Amino acid sequence: MRRPNILFCIADDAAWLHFGAYGCQWVSTPVFDSVAARGVLFENCYTPNAKSAPSRASLLTGRYSWQLGEAGNHICHFPEDAGVFTEALEEAGYDVAFTGRDNQLHHPFQTSWGVSTRLVGAIIMTHGDDDGLILPPAVAPIQVVVVPIAAHKPGVSEKAAELAEKISKYARVKLDDSDNAPGWKFSQWEMKGVPLRLEIGPKDLEKNQCVLVRRDTREKVFVSLDELETAIPAQLEALRKDLYERALANREKRTWAATTMDEVKELAKANTGYIKTMWCGDLACEMKMKEEVGLSSRCMPFEQEHLSDVCPCCGKPAKTMVYWGVAY
Ligand SMILES: [Zn+2]
Repeated sequence: MRRPNILFCIADDAAWLHFGAYGCQWVSTPVFDSVAARGVLFENCYTPNAKSAPSRASLLTGRYSWQLGEAGNHICHFPEDAGVFTEALEEAGYDVAFTGRDNQLHHPFQTSWGVSTRLVGAIIMTHGDDDGLILPPAVAPIQVVVVPIAAHKPGVSEKAAELAEKISKYARVKLDDSDNAPGWKFSQWEMKGVPLRLEIGPKDLEKNQCVLVRRDTREKVFVSLDELETAIPAQLEALRKDLYERALANREKRTWAATTMDEVKELAKANTGYIKTMWCGDLACEMKMKEEVGLSSRCMPFEQEHLSDVCPCCGKPAKTMVYWGVAY
């Protein structure tokens, strides 16, 4: 008998209410919705352990999370004797593979670091301020919002509409011609993180100019209407660069180097951020870091530094430099 192919997909950091098939209006999930329409859509499914790694471990082993031991946590260790369904399938003659157009079996990419809600959270936390979002221009659905000032005065709303039309040739633009007061509109679009606001009123019309306001610094500049096409991209690029530099400086400021466990403990107690140390490569030392300081490995950067010769956990020769941090 020909064995059927089994396709198994899971999504991390995705909640049911963010899929079209469950009624979400503001996230578009056509592939999921199409599969749901042709298959079975569960409506009363709950997890006793709403965390990504334990959920994956439950799926892999077919066990409850309280039966999983170390695999029921957010650490990197997965007990060898846990037994996973991919091994059971392999024993039964299956492979984790797919049949390609050449009729041969191929191995798929089994890990991907996709764009998920986690990245949205990172953008909010990294760039946002007390007034709301600050979106980098590349991902901002609206890059420029045009707000007419005293829109009832002759020519103002017409000019605002004309500018928005012109800007739409090189930036994602929104004309806010609603009845709300300008101040209300400013706050609204600031909260939504629109990188650049363009204000135009009767006095500006007389001078053939407008006002550009950056979301991050609130810096205002008067720009001639004849120079908008270069001024807007330049302002967006300046904002992008400054956001990046600020985020990088913030990360650097919150990263400490340590060479002994005592140093690691002191730093972890006094600060929030990353601690970098050397590491021997042994799982036991990673576990020790988790148990004694509450830190897990975050990254082994390509650009390695030599902080010391030995692993701070065991004193054996160090192989790599690792960034440690608290997992949430
Ligand atoms: Zn070690």
